[in-house]
Amino acid sequence: MLCRLKNKILNWFCSFFDQKLFFMKCCKKTKRNFNQGKIPDELISHNALKVLQRLHDSGYEAYLVGGCIRDILLQIRPKDFDIATNAHPEQVRKLFRNSRIIGRRFKLIHIIFGREIIEVATFRACHRKQNHQNHMVQDSNSGRILRDNVYGTIQDDAARRDFTINALYYRHVGDQQKILDFSSGIKDLQRKKLRLLGDPEVRYREDPVRMLRAIRFAAKLNFNLAKTTAAPIRQLIFLLNDVPAARLFDEVLKLFLNGHGLQSWHLLQTYELFACLFPDAALIMTQKKPAKLLFQETLRNTDERVHNELPVTPAFLYAALLWHCVLQTAKRLQDSENISARIAMQKSFDEVIKKQCRIITIPKRFTIATCEIWDLQHALVRRHPEKITNIAAHPRFRAAYDLLIMREKSGESLNNAGKWWMEYQKKNPVKRRSFTRRNSSENSFKKQRQP
Ligand code: ATP
Ligand code: MG
Repeated sequence: MLCRLKNKILNWFCSFFDQKLFFMKCCKKTKRNFNQGKIPDELISHNALKVLQRLHDSGYEAYLVGGCIRDILLQIRPKDFDIATNAHPEQVRKLFRNSRIIGRRFKLIHIIFGREIIEVATFRACHRKQNHQNHMVQDSNSGRILRDNVYGTIQDDAARRDFTINALYYRHVGDQQKILDFSSGIKDLQRKKLRLLGDPEVRYREDPVRMLRAIRFAAKLNFNLAKTTAAPIRQLIFLLNDVPAARLFDEVLKLFLNGHGLQSWHLLQTYELFACLFPDAALIMTQKKPAKLLFQETLRNTDERVHNELPVTPAFLYAALLWHCVLQTAKRLQDSENISARIAMQKSFDEVIKKQCRIITIPKRFTIATCEIWDLQHALVRRHPEKITNIAAHPRFRAAYDLLIMREKSGESLNNAGKWWMEYQKKNPVKRRSFTRRNSSENSFKKQRQP
């Protein structure tokens, strides 16, 4: 009781004061306890501890598992806490009123504590072993697992996880704490190696997204792929064509918006995965240096924003990634259909988005915003005096301005528009009007071609 109260108070302090400093301090303690297989409770979400406790009290086995243990041992603040248990989803559901069952491919339980969600999964079995026994497993022709709700032991569960470093379990019952490592995960953590469990080719065939996960973790943790894990990737890239486009959207965001986007992109290129996800953008980047520089600058900037805990949006990422495809498509349409630059530009937005969405489903709320960012580019460069106030009040102004700056940085010549808008934003509303008037002659708002 006293211990739980202590945890509560510490957690409150943790969120109230400088969280990072607090985390680092606790991590020192982790190092001390590491050899004893202990993690200080302060590093674990108290909601996760509550869930573990209730599952134990109800007679089930329950462990913290995966990314949270990996990250704590690497002194990184975990993004979320996952729990693995021998309780079936319906049994977990009964124990927690604040829970719901989700997922088809994997049935999971989400236990909701305000803004924090603790994910609870029942131990799964290695699907091949169970397949012959006619359990609920479904394979596509390429070996991809379509559904995987076969339950098993903790050893089975560990074997069907992706990487050795993601297959660490943490047992926390009363005063007894222990890290369970079935596959040399701790050794690989120490060696900074990302190693797929089992036969890599089979594991990639089961779930080709593991290729993208390998890149993501290598970038995030600054790890190397083990030789056997890296070897089959180039021959198996085609398997990604089979992955539902909506799932790829999520994975791509995790790759580019996790604070290690630039490194993820370099690795995606090294393993030739980038061209599979973004064929048109990849091609144009080989032909036009500014296209490559623009995306590089965008990722550098996005990483910085994530590290400073500033918001980032997929709409901006896609606007930068596909901008040169839009320019190229607009030029082709204008030439072939003999239409105005403005109409060609509008048509190209649709064409580029539609083509990309065949591979990766970008939700409509983002594609609309992406098109607005593109649409504002022309107005930002042209700076028509009567439109300035409206442009600056547009909900997408800030993102459009950021893209403009990136474009200039990547070598596009835009009549100093970036500097102009930077000066404009520094002024108060009264001065903005005179600034616009004064600078109108300088900018010579003559009709320009589309950007
Ligand atoms: P992150 O910090 O990005 O959340 P994570 O390791 O927690 O990293 P999740 O996607 O949250 O990643 O998955 C939780 C755990 O589930 C993983 O650590 C891994 O053990 C297992 N897992 C997730 N996706 C797969 C997969 N495609 N194949 C096998 N195991 C997986
Ligand atoms: Mg996670």
